[in-house]
Amino acid sequence: MLEKIAKIRDEALRAVEVAADKESLDQIRVRFLGKKGELTAILRSMGQVPKEERPKVGQEVNTLRRQLEEALESKLKDLERAELEKRLTREKVDVTLPGRRPSRGTYHPLTLVLREIERIFLGMGYEVAEGPEVETEYYNFEALNIPAEHPARDMWDTLYTARNTLLRTHTSPVQVRTMEQKAPEVPIKIIAPGRVYRRDALDASHSPVFNQVEGLVVDKGITFADLKGTLILFAQKMFGEDRKVRFRPSFFPFTEPSAEVDVSCIVCNGEGCRLCSQTGWLEILGAGSVHPKVLEMSGYDPKIYSGFAFGMGLDRIALLKYGIDDIRHLYENNWSFLKQFKAQ
Ligand SMILES: [Zn+2]
Repeated sequence: MLEKIAKIRDEALRAVEVAADKESLDQIRVRFLGKKGELTAILRSMGQVPKEERPKVGQEVNTLRRQLEEALESKLKDLERAELEKRLTREKVDVTLPGRRPSRGTYHPLTLVLREIERIFLGMGYEVAEGPEVETEYYNFEALNIPAEHPARDMWDTLYTARNTLLRTHTSPVQVRTMEQKAPEVPIKIIAPGRVYRRDALDASHSPVFNQVEGLVVDKGITFADLKGTLILFAQKMFGEDRKVRFRPSFFPFTEPSAEVDVSCIVCNGEGCRLCSQTGWLEILGAGSVHPKVLEMSGYDPKIYSGFAFGMGLDRIALLKYGIDDIRHLYENNWSFLKQFKAQ
């Protein structure tokens, strides 16, 4: 029996020594010290041991049990320490690494284009004016020579927030507000950028919310030639010195005569391509001489004063300037799109 105990001792201690993890230690504990373990089996078979050997065998078993428990305990500590060290190495923080820079934003293409437009007109002596986005019917329509039953109102359908109050459909009300404020002082030379609203469904070239830049000049002796010269200079500064500019007769209730203004296509240079629908021209704005009625309503005598006005879609200018094929890109806040634009 004593040899058997010695054999178990060798086996058990070696097993503890080579154990690689906690699970193996648990298995060893069960195998030797458990209820059905090998040491317990020896104690149970004590009846077969000769009486005189019993105390000796019992002592040996207890010694071995203590030895084994100690061995298991110390091996467990070893394993835990090794594991901790491994984790510390793995999770080591390199304090000498440089920090992560927060990524820097860029300017929105609409902001960049607006700044460029402002720079061009400020350089010609214009001031920047602003007006409310929630406007009265009077400023949005009547004062611009669009009376209540005028068919042109259909073109500018919008959301009414209350009776006679609406989301402005163009920046033109700022013309009227500026003239009212200044009358009868001259000259007036302003551009008025801002957000406008229409009943348009969102698609590649329409958005129910977009941006315009309005321009207005009022003085003595202002002619259509001044308008032409101003817009040609603008188009060439904005789209390149070799741009050609074309004026097509058009109609707006608040200007007379009125014109749509095109520049030669920035892609094909007038040859005809998909962007310009094979015409060679791109429409960039509407313009005209200020209608005598509008001048009069705002406090300027049309026999003494004259002026011109123009309005362009800022979004359209941005699409053309940067070759963007869908207006929705401007409103989706998609960082991989926006980060391409850098201030010049
Ligand atoms: Zn073209």
